[in-house]
Amino acid sequence: MAQQSICISPVYKVLDTFGALTDYIVTKGDLSPENVALFDQVANDLGIANREIKAKNSGLLLRLFFGYHNPVACQGTNRVYLNDSVLNALNLNERKFIIAHELTHHQDHHLFKRQFLIYILSILKVALTYSACFDNNESYLHKYMTNGWSLAGIEFNIFALILAQYAQQQELAADANALLSTDIDMQDAEKALQQVHYPDTKEWPLYGRIINFFNYYLMEYFCTLPVVKEHVPHIASFKDRIKALKKRHQEKLVDL
Ligand SMILES: [Zn+2]
Repeated sequence: MAQQSICISPVYKVLDTFGALTDYIVTKGDLSPENVALFDQVANDLGIANREIKAKNSGLLLRLFFGYHNPVACQGTNRVYLNDSVLNALNLNERKFIIAHELTHHQDHHLFKRQFLIYILSILKVALTYSACFDNNESYLHKYMTNGWSLAGIEFNIFALILAQYAQQQELAADANALLSTDIDMQDAEKALQQVHYPDTKEWPLYGRIINFFNYYLMEYFCTLPVVKEHVPHIASFKDRIKALKKRHQEKLVDL
């Protein structure tokens, strides 16, 4: 353990410096001392206190890009961006679940893994385009305008699906870890997710409500369309997410 902290600390110190710069642009101050203390306690429970991950209050920029209330784990900057207004509407265990979910993205290096997958797909894309367009007898540009162009469209769709699927697996894994590595029960986990997906938006500014409508209500409607269920069955709706979490919880109870 001591050896691990000696190896890892310098890396996380660099990430912390990036974080300090990012905070300046995307945060609106610190979280309340109570929520910071809870955050540090959950990081400690998950065994990643040595990474010195900091929790900050999201500012306008993050809220525009990721949703008005959405918690975001920002691994490259060693940060988790949350909102006091959202956390304070939850009970203690629900709050712990949301924090543990975000910290799992750090614990399991989810964003770095996703970035690695993007690199692999990018290399694959270059290789495929090169093999489809390289011809001794024809110009590269001409080949690209015929073969390469249509290949690019297919790649875009397939790669986007692979990435979406991978990201979704990470979300389900973070849910499961948040529930199974803490003393939170299934009911609190479900209620926490319910409030993130379907928050009370009465007090929100208009832009927050619009983002929420697109991110959650419209996406949920899209996921439940028969045509999507039939042709892209692996895309999980909110109900599927809860179902997957309940299944993992049941498996744990059987194991015990
Ligand atoms: Zn997540």
